[in-house]
Amino acid sequence: MDPERSGARSSDRESEERANEGRSGRDHECALFDLDGTLINTEARSMAMWQLLLDKHDVRQDVRVFMGRRGRDVVPEVFPGHDVEELIREVYGYDDHPELPEIVPVPGAAELVRKVAAYGSPIGLVTSAGRDWAEERLAQVGVRELIRVVVAAEDVAVGKPDPAGFLLAAEALGASPADCVVFEDSLPGIAAAKAAGMRCVGVATTHAHADLSGADLVVADLTGVDWPPFA
Ligand SMILES: [Mg+2]
Repeated sequence: MDPERSGARSSDRESEERANEGRSGRDHECALFDLDGTLINTEARSMAMWQLLLDKHDVRQDVRVFMGRRGRDVVPEVFPGHDVEELIREVYGYDDHPELPEIVPVPGAAELVRKVAAYGSPIGLVTSAGRDWAEERLAQVGVRELIRVVVAAEDVAVGKPDPAGFLLAAEALGASPADCVVFEDSLPGIAAAKAAGMRCVGVATTHAHADLSGADLVVADLTGVDWPPFA
């Protein structure tokens, strides 16, 4: 046997074992975070941007239909016969509108992401927003370098409440769905997490505590949340 090859294999195995030790903490859990309304309070701003689009096109529709879902999934329902990509570009174009609400991180968000990372658990982000927007918002929270996988609107054929995004993130992290804990503020997001076979912490930033009963645990915000939360 070629000693160099044999040596390479054994060092591969050792580094794999080290990686597994580092990855697993006590129990192999992964954290998958939603972005809007979960890590950063953009929901009011996003809704104001969609409201501008509705007003511009004289469409009378409760803007909350856009909560937690990809714009490209909702636009065809609300604007039948329109060019979806054109309307998506238009809504992102309102981002510099002077009267939009400020974007602020959800209390405890950065602390929790750092706590999960320090524990050795892999972290993914699964958002209904576009990638560029998501990358900018993560930089605002100050935790971009701790997030291993970002699944954005462009990365899946179907958005939440379909579980595809959460399942894709789990696969990319090498985790089984049962080992994933999802943090979500929206009803489609919680439905997606449960459909993926994952445990879910509901964050009552956008909806009332009582409305998030589909989650396994509900918190007001991310302040003082334990990791792992279901120990
Ligand atoms: Mg959300």
